[in-house]
Amino acid sequence: MAKVPAYAAVSAKAPLAPYEAERREPKEHDVVIDVLFCGVCHSDIHQARDEWGGGLFPMVPGHEVIGRVARTGAEVKKLKPGDMAGVGCMVDSCRECGPCSESLEQFCEKGCAWTYNSTEMDRKTPTFGGYSTQIVADERFVLKVPENLDPAGAAPLLCAGITTYSPLRQFNCKKGDRVGVVGLGGLGHMAVKLASSMGAEVTMLSTSRGKEADAKRLGAAKFALTSDEATFEKLAGYFNIIIDTVSAPHDYNKYLGLLKVKGTMVVVGVPPEAVPLHAHSLIGGNRRLSGSLIGGIKETQEMLDYCSKHNIVSDVEVIPIQKINEAYERVVKGDVRYRFVIDIASLRG
Ligand code: NAP
Ligand code: ZN
Ligand code: ZN
Repeated sequence: MAKVPAYAAVSAKAPLAPYEAERREPKEHDVVIDVLFCGVCHSDIHQARDEWGGGLFPMVPGHEVIGRVARTGAEVKKLKPGDMAGVGCMVDSCRECGPCSESLEQFCEKGCAWTYNSTEMDRKTPTFGGYSTQIVADERFVLKVPENLDPAGAAPLLCAGITTYSPLRQFNCKKGDRVGVVGLGGLGHMAVKLASSMGAEVTMLSTSRGKEADAKRLGAAKFALTSDEATFEKLAGYFNIIIDTVSAPHDYNKYLGLLKVKGTMVVVGVPPEAVPLHAHSLIGGNRRLSGSLIGGIKETQEMLDYCSKHNIVSDVEVIPIQKINEAYERVVKGDVRYRFVIDIASLRG
C-alpha cells in the first residue's frame, strides 16, 4: 500500500483540496501508471457535488486518465514500463456475466468498479480517480494509447471520446447522414469531430452564439441557435441521428421533432432532474429515443485506434490542479473550450 498525492472533495459541499489516496501494491495482472494528464468531465462535477446522490466521500474524481506505465505485475502481457496507457470510467468488473462477456463491462450484472466514487469488486475498497499522481488497475481495464496522440489531448478520449463514438457506431453513422449535436462542451466537441470524420454532415445545436466559428472549425457544416424558436421550424424532420450532450434540463420533445422518420436521438448528457416526454414525440414518425453509457473496454480501444488513424484528439485547456475549483465553475457556466485537462506535474511539486 502506498499513499500518493491527490485532490479530493471531502464532502459534497467542500471544494476540492489536497489529499493522499491509497494505491495497492500491484497484483500479478496489475499495471501501475504514473499519471501525466487527467481530463475534467462534467460528471466529475455532478459527482463531487453529489448531484446524482449516493456519493462516496472523500472522493478523488477523474476518469480521463493518461500516463506512462511505471511497473507491471508478473503476468501482465498487454503493456510494459514506459508505454503510454489510459484508464477511463471503469477499473474492474466481474468478467463473467453476459454483458462482461460481450465487453459491455459498464453493464456488469454485479456492478462494475467505477474508477472513482465506487468500490473495487470486493465491494469494500474505495476507488480513487485520476486527480492523483498514480493509479493502479488490472491490465484488462487499461487501454493502450497510441504514441502519435498528444497525451493531454488524448486524455478526454477516455470518457468524452468513447461516450460519443459508441452511439455514432451503434446507430451506424455514415457518409451522408445528417447528425445534430446538442451542446458544444467536452462531449459535444468530440461528437462533432467524430461524426464529421465518419462522413456525416454535422449541425451544431447550441445555446451559445459565440461558439459558431469553433463549431465549424471542429467540423460542423452548420450551426443553429437553440434559443431561437425558428431553429425548430427550420430543421424539423432533418436529422438521421441527434446526439444530445446537454447536462441541464431541456425539452427532449422539441429536439425529437428535428428527427426524420425513423431517426434516433441518443441522450448522453445527464440532467439531474427528470424531463417529461410526450408519446406523440416518438409516435409521430416512428422516432426513437435512446441512451448510451460510455462504451466497453474493447470499443474504447477501437476508438483510440480510430482516433490515432484519423489524428483526432480533444481541444484542451491545460490547467494546474490548483485551479480545479475555478475550472469547475467555468464548466458549469459553459465557459470551456472544450475540455479542461489537469497537468498532473502540478501535483508532484
Ligand atoms: P460540458 O462540457 O459542460 O458541456 C455541456 C454543454 O451543454 C455546454 O457546453 C452547453 O453547450 C450545453 N448546455 C449547458 N447547459 C445548458 C442548458 N441549460 N440548456 C441547453 N444547453 C446547455 O459537459 P460534458 O463534460 O460534455 O458532459 C455533458 C453531460 O454528459 C453531463 O451531464 C455529463 O455528466 C454527461 N456524461 C455522460 C456520459 C455517458 O456515458 N452517458 C459520459 C460522460 C458525461 P452550448 O453552450 O453549446 O449550448
Ligand atoms: Zn466522463
Ligand atoms: Zn460482469
